[in-house]
Amino acid sequence: MSDLSGFIEKNAKEGPRRPPGRPPTGRQPRPERTYLCAECGVELKTWKGLTIHTRRHTGEKPYSCKVCDKSFSCVTLLRTHSVIHTGEKPYGCDLCGKCFTQRSTLTVHKRYHSGERPYVCDRCTRGFVTKTIMRTHQRNCF
Ligand SMILES: [Zn+2]
Ligand SMILES: [Zn+2]
Ligand SMILES: [Zn+2]
Ligand SMILES: [Zn+2]
Repeated sequence: MSDLSGFIEKNAKEGPRRPPGRPPTGRQPRPERTYLCAECGVELKTWKGLTIHTRRHTGEKPYSCKVCDKSFSCVTLLRTHSVIHTGEKPYGCDLCGKCFTQRSTLTVHKRYHSGERPYVCDRCTRGFVTKTIMRTHQRNCF
């Protein structure tokens, strides 16, 4: 039986075989395909994402607000805008319960709780929660 054991050992050394139907290619091993923007070369994961992205180049804005007729390139932007008219404030602060129409406003508000001051005046090293506030300060900072 020494012949047979020798045969098994030889086979094992070859390692796992490739599954049939998948020839080796020089391409990167990326399972999901991506969609490439012909204008700027940006890669999008979905066709829908590419369609929305392409509007940046074409300037196309198919989503318009029914109230004020302002146009937007994607539905998310339109939704964010719409709360201006509905008075809805979907972004609530989990620390004090104050509500805001825009996520960015909530982000800025939270900095007052956390003490985070990402915008620092290069003249007096004081920190500010927004760039606008810092700019206003710098006009009077000597
Ligand atoms: Zn692009
Ligand atoms: Zn509107
Ligand atoms: Zn708060
Ligand atoms: Zn200053």
